[in-house]
Amino acid sequence: MADRIALRTCPLCEAGCGLEITVRESAREAGTRDSVEHTVVRIRGDMNDVFSKGYLCPKGSTLKQLHEDPDRLRQPMVKRNGTHVAVTWDEAWAEVDRGLGAVIATHGRESIGTYLGNPGAHNLSAMTFNRVLLTAIGSRQRFSASSVDQVPKQVSAGFMFGTAVSVPVPDLDRTDLLLMLGANPYASNGSLATAPDWPGRLEAIRERGGRIIVVDPRLSRTAESADEWLAIRPGTDALLLAAMVNAVFAAGRASVGDHLVEHVNGLREVEGALGAFTPEAVEAAVGIDAATIRRIALELCDANRAAVYGRIGTCTVSFGTTASWLVDVLNTVTGNLDVVGGAMFPLPVAASPTTRGKPGIGKGFKTGRGKTRVRGFPEALGEYPAALMAEEITTPGTGQIRAMVVVGGNPVLSTPNSGQLDDALASLDFMVSVDIYLNETSRHAHVILPAPSHLYRSHYDLALLNFGLRSVANYSAPVFELPPGVPDEWEILAKLAAIAQGLGADADPATVDEVTIRSLIESTVRDESCVIAGRNPDDIYESLSGPANGSLRGPDRILDLFLRIGPFGDGFGTTPGGVTLAELKRHPHGMDFGALIPRVPEVLRTPSGKIELAPPVLLSDLPRLEASLNQDPNAVLLVGRRHLRSNNSWMHNIRVLVKGKARCTLQIHPDDAARLGVKDGSPVRITSRVGMVVAPAEITEGIRPRVVSLPHGWGHDVPGTRQGIAHEFAGVNSNVLTDHEAIDPLSGNAVLNGIPVTLAAATV
Ligand code: SF4
Repeated sequence: MADRIALRTCPLCEAGCGLEITVRESAREAGTRDSVEHTVVRIRGDMNDVFSKGYLCPKGSTLKQLHEDPDRLRQPMVKRNGTHVAVTWDEAWAEVDRGLGAVIATHGRESIGTYLGNPGAHNLSAMTFNRVLLTAIGSRQRFSASSVDQVPKQVSAGFMFGTAVSVPVPDLDRTDLLLMLGANPYASNGSLATAPDWPGRLEAIRERGGRIIVVDPRLSRTAESADEWLAIRPGTDALLLAAMVNAVFAAGRASVGDHLVEHVNGLREVEGALGAFTPEAVEAAVGIDAATIRRIALELCDANRAAVYGRIGTCTVSFGTTASWLVDVLNTVTGNLDVVGGAMFPLPVAASPTTRGKPGIGKGFKTGRGKTRVRGFPEALGEYPAALMAEEITTPGTGQIRAMVVVGGNPVLSTPNSGQLDDALASLDFMVSVDIYLNETSRHAHVILPAPSHLYRSHYDLALLNFGLRSVANYSAPVFELPPGVPDEWEILAKLAAIAQGLGADADPATVDEVTIRSLIESTVRDESCVIAGRNPDDIYESLSGPANGSLRGPDRILDLFLRIGPFGDGFGTTPGGVTLAELKRHPHGMDFGALIPRVPEVLRTPSGKIELAPPVLLSDLPRLEASLNQDPNAVLLVGRRHLRSNNSWMHNIRVLVKGKARCTLQIHPDDAARLGVKDGSPVRITSRVGMVVAPAEITEGIRPRVVSLPHGWGHDVPGTRQGIAHEFAGVNSNVLTDHEAIDPLSGNAVLNGIPVTLAAATV
């Protein structure tokens, strides 16, 4: 058979690059199960993709290796006598039914915990059926990778603008000045600001005469390419931002702009609340002199078009929510919020919380609708902090977690105090993982249910296009048909939901799918502000599911609903020519509906209908922030880092990505190395309150003195896994050192940066 080209959006990170996949198919020998054997010949960037225009990073082409990886699980695994063995799907489902059923019957639904990993955010099946699964389980013991990542930004945006996805993004393609804190897009592209080729977009800012300032304790690749690098002390971004806001007010330059003047509450409250945070008051703590702080604050006022952008380094710290809030306060008081070239609100093509409901007003945002059982820590975004999962498993009492359902996550490597969680998972009565690998976490599972390779699944970035720098839509059909008898990922999640509901191991996922779409349609036609308000649900159902629409089922059918009721949708006939999934399929390189546009006040969903610049909960954190001015200047602080060829914990089994110079090193300043008597490459013992690891030193001027850096996602040398290459390039697990007690109190996010450690030369 001839080669064919398949187009697909890369599902590995938020950039969503378009891929062109060359596939070779040939007839198999008679008697084999599949009639066609397929090979991925080559993957390269899709030059005609409307957003990425041919760009891809080194990870994108490794979807081939991931698809072909012999360690990737193709069959369910069940643990028997301490060893995982391959079983049939029927055997696996029977085991899940027995294990979950026994725990629910004995201890109740609250004894089931769930953990959703980061890959689910890039996965249409997970985005449409994880919620169905959580509802079916019916437990509040929900955890996810969000609380080791971006929850602080979502919480601050929620309080200021009304929903957890009302996150302003920097209008990179039209800005003149970008102040970037805690972000390294040269390694990990953008995040909560979705666009391919961040490096190219940043270089374009400078080519058109603009400036980029990077705030980071490390001279990252992004900082190297910037006009100015400010080597901040870890964890002090909130102090720096507070001082910049203070400086703007002190200079009499605070102005939200004519366009926002009617739409902002709390300007004077912010000025008063930040009075103590002068540049002089914070300079010693942040490690940046007052004159520089003041200068940059005023540059943001003076620039024609400027944006402040904070990412993971500003979130995964003790003041993550406060820093995230102050990023948008600074954008607002310098007149850069909701203007072209400033920080703008995305307009996603598929319906989202910022386009649904009555424009300009809403119920607002809350946290604390529940509290953790053990220490009473408040909920955020419907979840509890991942850092507290272990104590919820190990602390006896009513509601103690006795079973876990883990979907696409490896919390043993990615959440704080790994040793504690590793022990806790080993103590469970039952655990099921949906995972493509037998890894450091799924080795604890009694049953592992393997999702099929990405190339067998359809794709649309439902979550992350909420943060798009353009209004873009891009649908990918499966590259290959699923082999007979292999369930799609959504079917696995739907069947798990059915079993959790008590429908048994023979339950049909199609039933769950039908109930789900019917319920979504019912709630949509009841929404008075929706374009299909009051329509007959049966008509909408038929329009989505009938043969004329390709008899859609599963995630594709839900996606079609969201596209059609979105701002560019056909409204089921209300807006002829509007987007539908069928229309999107006719545009395999994607559809581009334009650059960002100003959206205030329509985007707001606060009860007041205004931007809340001074939410009381954020102001209440300022005394704690002020107390943090008195820091020990001699403390050695650990920070993380990312690498272009790494993707959290789960792509280390691809040789082409991990080979070469060792990446899991301890970056250390020459002064600190000299004090310890450590040479480049020699082992250093790193000890925190909760753990100790030994890693080779990488001596570099590109890091602040008294700051050291270890990348996360490594530590693949534990027994019982099945990832041969990852094991060979094991590295050490930085989360052995991070502390489960260190949590941002407003969001529950873990503190992964700025961990106090002690260092010593280690013997080999
Ligand atoms: S930047 Fe790399 S990993 Fe991310 S979507 Fe593009 S090709 Fe994939």
